[in-house]
Parts: sequence; structure tokens; C-alpha cells
Amino acid sequence: MFRVYDQKQTFLLPPSLDDFLEESHPARMINDLVDRLDIQALEDRYGLMGQPAFHPRMMLKVTLYGFTVGIFSSRKLQRACQENLAFKYLAGMATPAFKTFIEFRRRHREDMKAVFVQTVKLARELGMAKLGAVALDGCKIAADTSKHKAMSYGRMLEEEKKLKAEIEGLLKQAETVDESEDAEHGPGDDGYRLSDELDRREKRLAKIEEAKKALEEREQRDNPGKPIDAKKQISFADHDARCHSKKSDGTEYVYNAQAAVDMDSQVIVENHIEESVADANAAKPALENMKQDLGVVPDKLVADAGYGNKNTLEACQGHEVTPICATMREGKDGGTSTKLDEFGYDRAQDKFTCPHGQVFEFDHELANDGKRVYRSSTVMGCGCSDYANRDGRGVVAALPGHFAKRELRRIMEESGHREVYRRRKCTVEPVFGQIQVGMGFRRFFYRGRENAGGEWNLVCAAFNIKKVARLATNAGGWVAIRARSEGTASCRGFFIRWGTQLVLLRDQVAALAAQIAPMPQPA
Ligand SMILES: [Zn+2]
Repeated sequence: MFRVYDQKQTFLLPPSLDDFLEESHPARMINDLVDRLDIQALEDRYGLMGQPAFHPRMMLKVTLYGFTVGIFSSRKLQRACQENLAFKYLAGMATPAFKTFIEFRRRHREDMKAVFVQTVKLARELGMAKLGAVALDGCKIAADTSKHKAMSYGRMLEEEKKLKAEIEGLLKQAETVDESEDAEHGPGDDGYRLSDELDRREKRLAKIEEAKKALEEREQRDNPGKPIDAKKQISFADHDARCHSKKSDGTEYVYNAQAAVDMDSQVIVENHIEESVADANAAKPALENMKQDLGVVPDKLVADAGYGNKNTLEACQGHEVTPICATMREGKDGGTSTKLDEFGYDRAQDKFTCPHGQVFEFDHELANDGKRVYRSSTVMGCGCSDYANRDGRGVVAALPGHFAKRELRRIMEESGHREVYRRRKCTVEPVFGQIQVGMGFRRFFYRGRENAGGEWNLVCAAFNIKKVARLATNAGGWVAIRARSEGTASCRGFFIRWGTQLVLLRDQVAALAAQIAPMPQPA
């Protein structure tokens, strides 16, 4: 005996989209969550004229859900909408072409920040992301280019010269050929031409000159007023991507994707693309973004030694945030006296004391870099000074950064701070792990810093939505959370349940209507 198998059988009642997806499916959770996001910024980008567009909320649901299940490419999203039930459900049976997804991401790359911020606000409404301690870290994610499409500044100068000479030679040749051909065929005949050869070189020259200009502008920002190192490289495919040397295998082109993670809930509360591959300046924009977008800053900012510098200390002090930040040993990152770390420092009297008890008193400060010079009062015997004066008294010098690091170290030793710092490792690093391994986001799909920023916002938003969805599922669903968060009796919950059903019903009707007519236009 077999069960009935008849693919031609029709449904007695028209099926609803809701029937195809089980109640607890993650796509439903994402659907409900995205329904709660304010996407006015996205809707505002559409005009009243022209072809009706797919609804941005639908496009956002499909894209975000794609990101949570590791589908990032527009072609794969198109395919999923045709074949995958969860996507069909989210798309309301619509099947946007891959170009529509590309266009959606291009058009809304700046809006993705608003979407991300909405996910943080949603998490906060649910009691997550309380911003007690926030761990900030950076992750190098490959750009959509390879090191083979790159060139060093020195090579570019050579190539530019060579191509210019070749082009000049070809032009001269063309002139003489033209003259002789004019004589042969008459002036109207184009006969043999060197234009292809010329064309190829001119195009290549234009490409090199464009990349060269971008590199020069970048270096001007990074190292203002300094001559450009001939070894500095730039990618032809993506001028904004940064060359990053890896410990194991050579170099690659990357973006330095920053994320600030709430240490209690693992919700990402801030993200941005840092312009440089170093993390040294990332604390300031991170705190500024939180202040601006969420209206609050965390109590504590926790970061590794890559952030342990004056910029981070000042950014934290400016926002009244406690920095819990490791520091690199002096000398390793271009500090001043390598031995100074082992010295004691008396802030009140502005004195250093070496491990052997030699005291160094403040002597003078240099105007150009704020370097402070200290001298010992007696002749040195222990060899702790940078150099000795003619009278045998020792001299040590400290840059302003040294005092910032001392302050960071002092804060680190305060009660409980080491413990918070230790927790950092099991907070922010797993987040990057889940993004790169779990979600499978290992490289950017679009070029340029702005596009990469939009993508990183989407990744972080999808990550947050997953976190919130997990919380919601564990807590017995969205309705249960809402009932609880509103602190209501079960009777109220009952009505909320009906309210939710009504919303779903309305969405279904709209979705089914969309199968017949195009998606309604946002006003
Ligand atoms: Zn000494």
C-alpha cells in the first residue's frame, strides 16, 4: 500500500502562505522583527513616478534573512525566492530579479545604517544590550579584489613613464603613416591604423593615473606632508581597500570592519569601517556613533592593545566612559624609552624612578611633539637612562602617549577591571567567528568603502536579528515577550495574540493580492 501521490491534485481551499511554513520557523521570526523596524528612510527614497517597485520591507526581509542563512549574492537570492519556501513566504511569492537586489543594495547602502541602528534599538527595548561593558574589536574582511590587481607606487611611476613614451612614439608613427597613406590613398581613406595599439595603452595609462591619484590622496590623509613610500600599494579594482600583511601567507586587500559588542547580550551596538587597517583610532568614531545613534554611550569600553593609546583614552574621557584597554610595551609601537615602562612615576611630583632607585626629575618639554625630558640629579651608574649628559647625569624622555598608557594601565588595575578584560575574549571574538564561519561572510561583495560600509551594516543587522530571534524563541515567541515586556496579565496577552493574528492576516491578504497585482507603492 502507498499513500496517495498526485501532483495534479488541486487544493480545495486556496492555501495561504502561512500554511507552508511551520510556526517556529526562523523566517517567521525575522518577518515579525522586520515588521517592527521603522524603515521610513528606505521608503522615502522612492518617488511616485515610474514603475511600481517591490516594497522595500519585503526586499529587506529577503536580504536580511539571506544574510542570516549565508546567502549574500544577488543571484542566489533571486534563486532562493524561486525555490525556497522560507524565501517565498518572506517575499510574498514575489520573485525579484537579481538586478533588483543589486539595485536595492546600491540604492539603500546608506540606509542600512538606519536598519542596523533599528535592530539595536529593538534589542534594547527587549532588555538586551544594556551597554554596561562594550567590547570593541576589528576584523579584517577581504575586499572584492585580489593582490594581483594591485600595483606599488614605484611601479606605477615607472609604468606611467613607459606608457607615456610608448604613446608618444605611436602618435609620431601614426603621423608619418598617415602622411604616407594620405599620399597613397588620398586624405579620406583610413587604411591601416595604429589606433588599437594606441587605445590599449591610453586606457591603461588612464587606469594607472586614476589609481595613482587615489593612492596619493590616501597617503596625504595617512601621512600628511611626507614623501610617498614607493612600496605603498593600491588595488585597481577597489581603491579604498587596504593592503594587509598576514602573519602566515603574504598580503591581501581588506576592509577593517569594526564592531562594538555589548558584553552581556552579544548584541552588536555599533559598527563602522575603519579607514586604516590599524585599530588605533577606532574608539573615537565608535563612541561618537553610539552617542549619535543610540543616544547613550557604554559605562566601559573594553579593547585590546591595538587600541591602547592616547586617542582611545581621550575619546573615552570625552564621553565619560571608563576605558579598559590593554597596552603594548613601550618601544614596540614607536614609543620613546623602552625602559620607561619599568620605571615608577609620581604624578604629583612629576618624577620617574628607575628600578634601582635613581630619580629623574622633569627638565623641559619639546614644543614640536610634546616630548618631556627628565634628568637624574646624580651621576648614573645603573644604565637605565637613554643617554648621559656630559656631567654624567642620565636623561630619559617620554612622549604624551606614554602618560596615556600609564593611565590606561592604572585603570586596568582597578578592582574588577582585569576580570572584565578577560571576558572580552569570549565576547567579541565569537561574534566575528559567528559572522565569518557561522554566517559564512568572509568577503565583501561590492567595491568601495561606502558599499562595504552598507554591507557591513547589513551583516551586523542580520547578526542582531538572529540574536533577538533566539531570545524570542527561547522566551516562547514574540507574543510572549511582548506580553511580558508590557507587564500584562494573560488576558491582555490574549488580545495581543489576536492583534498579531490580525496583522498577519492583513499581510497575507496583501501578499496574495500582490500575486495578482504589483506590490503596492509606498506613499
Ligand atoms: Zn636603574
